[in-house]
Amino acid sequence: MNPSIEDTTQGLQSFLQSGSGSKIVITTHHKPDADALGSSLALYHYFKEMGKDVHVITPTDYPPFLHWMPGNDNVINFEEHPERAEELAMEADAIFCLDFNDLKRINDFGDIVAKSDARKIMIDHHRDPKGFDDHRFWTIETSSTCELIYEYICLNGSEEMIDSDIATCIYCGIMADTGSFRFSSTSSRTHEIAANLLKKGVQPNEIQSRLFDNFGLSRYRLMGYVLHEKLELIPEYNTALVFLTAEELQRFNVQTGDTEGFVNFGLGISGVKLSALIIDRTKLVKMSFRSKGSFPCNELAAKYFNGGGHLNAAGGASHDTLEEVVAKFRAILPEFAEELKKDN
Ligand code: 5GP
Ligand code: MN
Repeated sequence: MNPSIEDTTQGLQSFLQSGSGSKIVITTHHKPDADALGSSLALYHYFKEMGKDVHVITPTDYPPFLHWMPGNDNVINFEEHPERAEELAMEADAIFCLDFNDLKRINDFGDIVAKSDARKIMIDHHRDPKGFDDHRFWTIETSSTCELIYEYICLNGSEEMIDSDIATCIYCGIMADTGSFRFSSTSSRTHEIAANLLKKGVQPNEIQSRLFDNFGLSRYRLMGYVLHEKLELIPEYNTALVFLTAEELQRFNVQTGDTEGFVNFGLGISGVKLSALIIDRTKLVKMSFRSKGSFPCNELAAKYFNGGGHLNAAGGASHDTLEEVVAKFRAILPEFAEELKKDN
C-alpha cells in the first residue's frame, strides 16, 4: 500500500460490520468529475456486496458522459431530491466524503452532513483538509481518490470483492485524474493498480471512448469559438486566459461538461506556465487554473479566489461579477511575475 496515506480508519470496519453500521451514505463534491463519481460508485458497489443499505448523493448534477457508469441510475441528486437526501443523511450511521475535504465543496448539502450524527469518513487527495471528519484515509501523494478506494478495499482484505463494475469505476477515475496516465501524479503504484484492474475485466479502450468520444456538437462549436476568439495570451506573465460570459454559454447551448478540459488549451502554448478558465455560471463565477512545472495554482486559488486544489490543477469560485473576477486575475499576475518567468 502507498506508505504516505494517513489512515485513521482503524475500528471503522468492525463498526460497519456490526448491526449499528448498516446505513451508509456516500457523497462527493459538486459537479462531480470521473474521479469523484467513479470513487463514489466503486465504494457503493463494494458496500452493496457487503449487504449494506447504501446510497450515493451528489450535491448537483454531472456531465452526461458519466451517466454510463455502473450504478449511475441509483445516484440521488441533492438539488432534485433535497428532502430524500436530507432524510438519508440524517438516518445514516456513516457518511463517506470522497474527493473533497471541505464541506463548502458540497454546497448546501454540507450543512446537513455537518448536522448528521453519522460518523464522517473522508477519503481524499487534496491539500489542507478542513477537519470535519471522524476518520480519514488521505494523502496528496496519489493519482486520485479512486486509487485510494482501491487501497482502502485492499486494506480491508477485500481485494477479491473487486468485480468488473468496481474495477471499471476505479479505473475510470484513475484514467481521468491522471490525464490518461500522463500527469506527474502517475506512479508505479498507479500502474500496478491499473494492471490489477485490467485482470478484473476492465476494457481501457471502451472507457477511453465513453469518456472522451461522447460529447454533443455544442462542445465542439464552443471549442472552435474559444480557440478562435477567446483564448488570450498574456506574454509578459507566460499566462493564457479564457473567460466566458453567461450570454456566450447560452448562445452555444452549453451543457454540463462541455467546457471540460478547455483550461488545458492555453497550457499547450509553448512557454505558457499558467492557464486560467473563468466562467460565469450565473449563480457563481467559477475558475479553473492549470500550471506547468513548479507554479502553485492552488496557492493562487486559495489566496485570491476562495479555492484550492493541487499544485498544477486548482479551482475557485466567486460571487463577484465576471468582469470583476477577470480584472482581479489580471491585477494579481504581477505578484507572481518572478515564478511565472522562471524556466521550470
Ligand atoms: P477543475 O478545474 O477541474 O474544476 O478543478 C481542478 C482541481 O481544483 C480539482 O482538484 C478540484 O478539486 C479543485 N477545485 C476546483 N474548484 C475548487 C474550489 O472552488 N475550491 C477548492 N478548494 N478546490 C477546487
Ligand atoms: Mn480527484
